[in-house]
Amino acid sequence: MRDGGAAGGGIAPVLLHWYDRHARDLPWRIGPAARARGERPDPYRVWLSEVMLQQTTVAAVQGYYRRFTERWPDVAALAAAGDAEVMAEWAGLGYYARARNLLKCARAVVADHDGRFPETAEGLRALPGIGPYTAAAVAAIAYDEAATVVDGNVERVVARLFTVETPLPSAKPELTRLAAALTPAKRPGCFAQAMMDLGATVCTPKSPACGICPLIHACRARAEGIAADLPRKAPKAAKPVRQGIVYVARRADGAWLLETRPETGLLGGMLGFPTTDWAEAAPAEAAPLPADWTDPGAEVRHTFTHFHLRLALRVARVPEGTDPPRGHWVPAAEFRPAALPTLMRKAFDLARGTLE
Ligand code: SF4
Repeated sequence: MRDGGAAGGGIAPVLLHWYDRHARDLPWRIGPAARARGERPDPYRVWLSEVMLQQTTVAAVQGYYRRFTERWPDVAALAAAGDAEVMAEWAGLGYYARARNLLKCARAVVADHDGRFPETAEGLRALPGIGPYTAAAVAAIAYDEAATVVDGNVERVVARLFTVETPLPSAKPELTRLAAALTPAKRPGCFAQAMMDLGATVCTPKSPACGICPLIHACRARAEGIAADLPRKAPKAAKPVRQGIVYVARRADGAWLLETRPETGLLGGMLGFPTTDWAEAAPAEAAPLPADWTDPGAEVRHTFTHFHLRLALRVARVPEGTDPPRGHWVPAAEFRPAALPTLMRKAFDLARGTLE
């Protein structure tokens, strides 16, 4: 275990100096110049962006962030939104439990905190769906609390600065301790964002640009020539494959058969085409309504965090007046493929050639 205190003493001022010149321009960010003029970040926007950025890239998040903030400009507006509206707007961003927790959290802020986010990491952690990372990030960025913010970028930078050889995820406590020792009492919010920016733009995973790095003289991994090898990662177990069948039905008037998935479980609360259960053994047919289902020989492939999914496609045209025992008909004029989760959009793209 390395000691961050002595080696890390001069890192914060150097990194803040670099951030003042090279901070990324992000739609949810109050940059260093505006911050120095006294502008304060809006905690709602910081929180929203941090929830969206979990497991997702900045590039993927930007459009979602813009649409959410145009439609729901503050936490009270989001708290008043309907579940289905928010889930539809989130569609495609993945990890749908985040969207359900987002709504729960917004409603708790309005109901229990008079519409104002708590101002400490500890207070924020008490809200539904806010874990240690998000609490620390919002407390640091929005309220300048000297909270330790450790995302994947920060883990990488710290592992390299101090040559932490322990593989992830076992190294997390050590990396957090080292990051905490680096966090300054002055401008901790800018420091947290500077670490993230350095990891995202300079100290990148495969080929760190050490030649332009402000921390090159403090970096042990660079000195030892092992920067690109860190952080080490424990080998991942191979993902199992699950199978299922997805049923895409279209009525003669153009309506599509959709159902809202159960609240708990994958894609919980999202709208989609009916499917069988997903299991490692090939499933039996479980069509949502009696029809002349055909097998176009296509398969929807999608990867979740813990498994690969293969869904065999079935399609059917059904006459008007058919009442489904499962799901409901969505008229063609109201059907928005963009409001479907990515897996279901893939099924739609495969089926549309046969059914449109
Ligand atoms: Fe990363 Fe290289 Fe900078 Fe070290 S010198 S922090 S490895 S970019």
